[in-house]
Amino acid sequence: MNKQWTIGQIKEFVEKNSESKLLTTEYYGFSQKLLFKCTCGSNFEKTFKKFKNNNQRKCDVCQPPKATR
Ligand SMILES: [Zn+2]
Repeated sequence: MNKQWTIGQIKEFVEKNSESKLLTTEYYGFSQKLLFKCTCGSNFEKTFKKFKNNNQRKCDVCQPPKATR
């Protein structure tokens, strides 16, 4: 039951749910890495899945990844 997101919906989600900006203009699927611009000015890449489901909505400097093994 995967919801199909469009780039427009993703952009809206990013704007409503984070302070980051979406730079990517095309979306092919959940495995694609999207390019975001963090409030600090850095660009960072993340899949939308991580951004949305894992709450990774800033760059690694502003929001260091939790140690995952
Ligand atoms: Zn940042």
